[in-house]
Amino acid sequence: MLPHTDRPNRETPLPKKGMRQTEQRKAVFEALMSRADHPSAVEVFMRVKYRMPSISLATVYNCLESLTANGLVRTVNHEREPSRFCANLQEHAHLFCSECGSITDIPLHTPMPPEQIWNLPEGVSIAQQEVSFRGLCAPCACAPRQGTPPRTPNPAPAAAPSGN
Ligand SMILES: [Zn+2]
Ligand SMILES: [Zn+2]
Repeated sequence: MLPHTDRPNRETPLPKKGMRQTEQRKAVFEALMSRADHPSAVEVFMRVKYRMPSISLATVYNCLESLTANGLVRTVNHEREPSRFCANLQEHAHLFCSECGSITDIPLHTPMPPEQIWNLPEGVSIAQQEVSFRGLCAPCACAPRQGTPPRTPNPAPAAAPSGN
């Protein structure tokens, strides 16, 4: 996708105003809160840009970094994929869908400290727990598997062994 070039003043450095940064961070945070779908930084950027066309990807990265540092947002990492972001601060695990790649929040029945859930080895100290599951999200679990061939209007008969 080509960057849009309708604004010749794009090189003008942004004013170093705390107000503006707060506004941008708020927009980034709201973009994350609007849907619990764990977007990547680029996806957050696309959403924020829609409302705030002047925002840059670098700014979105900075905002995400400071939101993460302030504990308002969690990063979610899965294999070699780019980090994704989660604004759900309730204790929860993540289900990585092996079919569509989505991430679903899995809450605990009753929030409780890790030592009540896990049999922690003696002397161990937990700073943060990150639990992940692999499986299928609800839509993928209900959908017909992609591995099955699509319906054909004229199904070929199963190849019968040709007579002797
Ligand atoms: Zn989450
Ligand atoms: Zn899925």
